[in-house]
Amino acid sequence: MSRFFSSRHASLVPYTPGEQPKVLNVTKLNTNECPFPPSEKALRFAAENTRPLNLYPELQFVDIRGRLAGLYGISPDNFVLGNGSDELLNFAFMAFCDDQKQAAFPNISYGFYPVYAELNHVPYLEIPLREDFSIAPEDYFNLGRTIFIANPNAPTGMALTRAQVDEIVKRNPDSVVVIDEAYVDFGGETCIPLIQKYDNLLVIQTFSKSRSMAGARLGFAAGSEALIADLNTIRYSTNPYNVNSMTLALGLGVLLDKETTRKNCRTIMENRAWTVAELESLGFTVLPSSANFIFARSGRIDGGELYAKLKARNILIRHFDKPEISAWNRITIGTREQMDILLRNIREILEEKP
Ligand code: PMP
Repeated sequence: MSRFFSSRHASLVPYTPGEQPKVLNVTKLNTNECPFPPSEKALRFAAENTRPLNLYPELQFVDIRGRLAGLYGISPDNFVLGNGSDELLNFAFMAFCDDQKQAAFPNISYGFYPVYAELNHVPYLEIPLREDFSIAPEDYFNLGRTIFIANPNAPTGMALTRAQVDEIVKRNPDSVVVIDEAYVDFGGETCIPLIQKYDNLLVIQTFSKSRSMAGARLGFAAGSEALIADLNTIRYSTNPYNVNSMTLALGLGVLLDKETTRKNCRTIMENRAWTVAELESLGFTVLPSSANFIFARSGRIDGGELYAKLKARNILIRHFDKPEISAWNRITIGTREQMDILLRNIREILEEKP
């Protein structure tokens, strides 16, 4: 820390992203990316439709908001875009939390929530998951706090139904409930339709997972016009040109090629079912996943040790130090070939154990 660093941030512990090696000769199953690149069709569309780069990006996101409005049957005014959904989550902490309206989220969830709370000096309550790692909706009723729930949750992969989220939103009429749907396309139920029913629901999605665009950085928030206007106030007060023109063009290209996204999600769900069955046959416990990753624990090898041994073999998975989950690993579901490599190496590692 330099002697110039603001005392307001002196105790900030930044988020630790998963490793992003420069070389691509690793089996990369650590940060829940899509193993498939954007389709040729989407890339061609982007190449042909990117606004000239000597101009600033278009500020209103007219095309993508229009397309999203059509897809979900609501108004373009119910959407705003972000530089990844991370940016929109930060905007939500800035817009809807303070000393009076503190935050609440599960104790085991996306590691960025406490970081954004700290960054914005928002006090927060971490609500323990139940013993089976599930989120109990009733633990979130009438909290008087801005609530952040990843649905499906990360790193567990477990999902609430839309009816359960509906109940949480209904039971917090005077607080914003933020549902982070980064992984919803792999078996979850989106809550976007509920924004017509509730003015206190904000749903955030990303193009980084099912839509193959992690490197392009694009996310969107859906909510009542008033909530979206608040997010735009924050956006225009920080970085109005938050999404670049290349990403906007590619985002639209990907939305216009829904079939590829759907096919990729189906493949990942099939690969997930196969991987779970294989891991279970090796004695692993695997939580029921509605995401493009699984959370698994071997009875024979600790999560940290498995992570390190796989890394030595050029395979990256994720391990978290938090004591409650240190026996576990989060494994992104990739191509069938990638999962074959993973399983072959796990088998060898287990065979080496006494
Ligand atoms: N929410 C959750 C639960 C995530 O796991 C991630 C990915 N790390 C994000 C949001 C952010 O995704 P992005 O910024 O790439 O849209």
